[in-house]
Formats: sequence, C-alpha cells, structure tokens
Amino acid sequence: MTRACLKDHSVESLRASFAEDGIARFRADQIAAWLYARGVEDFDEMTDLSLDLRAELSERWTTRALEVDRVQRSVDGTIKAALRTADDRRIESVLIPEEDRNTLCVSTQVGCPLACSFCATGALGFTRNLTTGEIVDQVCRMREVLDGEREITNLVFMGMGEPLLNPAAVAEAIRLLVHPKAFAFAPRRVTVSTVGVVPQIGPLLEVAPIHLAVSLHATTDAARDTLVPLNQRFPLVVLLDELRRLETVNKRRPVFFEYTLIEGVNDSLDDARRLAPLLRGIPSKVNLIPMNAHPDSPYRAPSPARIDAFLREVAASGLRVTLRRSRGPDIQAACGQLALRGDAAA
Ligand code: SAH
Repeated sequence: MTRACLKDHSVESLRASFAEDGIARFRADQIAAWLYARGVEDFDEMTDLSLDLRAELSERWTTRALEVDRVQRSVDGTIKAALRTADDRRIESVLIPEEDRNTLCVSTQVGCPLACSFCATGALGFTRNLTTGEIVDQVCRMREVLDGEREITNLVFMGMGEPLLNPAAVAEAIRLLVHPKAFAFAPRRVTVSTVGVVPQIGPLLEVAPIHLAVSLHATTDAARDTLVPLNQRFPLVVLLDELRRLETVNKRRPVFFEYTLIEGVNDSLDDARRLAPLLRGIPSKVNLIPMNAHPDSPYRAPSPARIDAFLREVAASGLRVTLRRSRGPDIQAACGQLALRGDAAA
C-alpha cells in the first residue's frame, strides 16, 4: 500500500480520517503540534504517542512531501530554495527578510498554465498542481534551512503557479496555516495572490479572513488581454464588479492590487489616472512592481524618473500606493523570475 502524506490533511480532516481507522480523534491534534508547531517529522520522536501507534502510523503515513535541492542566498538577505517533490519535480520558495517581518513566498503549481507574457514561470508551461502537503512543506523545509536564524512571520502565495487554479489544495493549506494547533499564523499574515479566477475568489475568502492580492497590471482590457491572457475570460469589469460585490472585501481587508510597471506598455500617466476610477468602490492598496527582467521576456522596467512620476500621479488620485523594492534579483528570486534557472545563475 502506498503511504499517504499527513500534511495533505487539515487538522479537521485528519481527525475524520483517524476516526475511520479507529484512532482517537485528538491524536490528529497531537500530530499537528509535532509536525507544525515543533517541526518534528520522525514518528520515533513523537513521544506522547504509544510505540504501537507510532508503528501503525508509520506504516500508513509519511510526514515529508519535499526535499531541499538547492539553497541560494542573495546579497540582500533573500533566500531562495529549490525543492524537489517525490515524483522528482522542482519548485521554488523564497524567504524575504524585512525589518519587521520575514515573509515566505510559496508556490502552488509546478509551472503555470496562464502564460502571462512578462512572467518567467508562465514561460515554463504547466506540469501539475501541488498537493496540500507540498504547499505547507515549503514552510517546513524553509524553517529547516533557516535553522532558527529567523522566524517566518508572513506567508504570501506569490510563487510559481496560480493559486486559484488549485483551489482545494490551497484552501486545505490555509486551514493548516491558520489552525492554532498547526502553524498558527494569524490569517491577516497570509496573502493569496491571483490574476483573477473570478468564481474562486469568494470561496477563497470564506476559508479564513486572509488577505487577497490581485495581479492587475493594466487599466484597459486591450492591454490586459495581452499581458494576462486570462483577462479574455474574466475581463476587468467582471473581476472588479465581483470584488465590489463581496462582503469579505472590506476596509479591514482591502485588496492589494499588484501592478508590474513595464516600459512603454502600461506606464503612461493616462494609465496612472485611469486606476482610481477603475478601482472606485473597492477598498484598495496599489503595489507597483517595476518589471524584473529575465531571458524569456523582451520587457523592461521604466526609468526611475518615469516610475516616480507614475507613483505620484496615482498617489495624487487618492489611492494608497507603494513601490515594491525588488528582492533577490542576483539569485533570480524576484517577482516573476521563478523559473528554476538556479544552475545558470550560480
Ligand atoms: N499567479 C498568481 C500568483 C503569482 S504572484 C498571480 O499572478 O497573482 C507573482 C506576482 O509577480 C504577480 O503579481 C505577477 O504578476 C508578478 N510578476 C510576474 N512576472 C513579473 C516580472 N517579470 N516582474 C515583476 N513582477 C512580475
């Protein structure tokens, strides 16, 4: 019998699965505490379980979904880990240390099917969805790499793949991340980013009061159709009306709109002026990300002066807007650069 991975289950789902096997439900809580709160993955070390139970569990279950393949450290402190799945696929996770927080950026798919024209992951094509275990094990493996050097305080689903094309595994991962017996992250410290898979946004925000980020990148359908091809299915008005409609989007939980600034494509002052009317009625924060260059795309970032002019124009319109500093570009760890090019970069 092939063994299943404990990390594929939320605490609630593991309780139910144990009950079916005649194992007391509270054992699920004990195991979650070992795996996620204490970082112990060896059944032999789970000393509050009887020897018989440990033997029974190890016959039926595994505890690790990923192994660390390679770790790269940027001069700015960013750490990128290439991780290997049991079927020998590779994904990447990035730890971004900042003054007041350490954010882990996790992947949700091997590759991505959405083919956004400026994103290196998009150029890889799509292999498969990650399992829940593979999503949460990115936290466990990065903790192992950090070995107490830093504590992961925030999580962003902004790595490889589109989270809302893998909604069931992402929802179960979020349940583990916020469960008090498991990782116990405050929901507001978890952010899921989507290009706008409209029917999945409402259900996602029902899972827990997490933050939503939306990859906007354009102010007209004509421009967005080419940058984010999924816009052809869910155009701007459909996406933004859904955000206006959802009660789970509110002042306490504004939407972070990501806007990758690309020279000559979406960086005009007219674009900047169109943003506020477009987002009217949605509690919003706009996050500008200068295009991170990579070999699969001809696009470049605008000049610093042009970025500054865009930022000022957006701010003048009354929107809250910030400029995201690019982190880890020397190890291809920045937004849109995750394409498993680690060896070439070394
Ligand atoms: N698929 C989801 C999750 C990935 S988030 C989404 O797109 O929202 C990764 C973020 O980095 C997205 O906002 C994406 O648009 C942005 N990005 C992609 N390529 C980039 C690049 N070359 N430079 C800067 N940002 C980029």
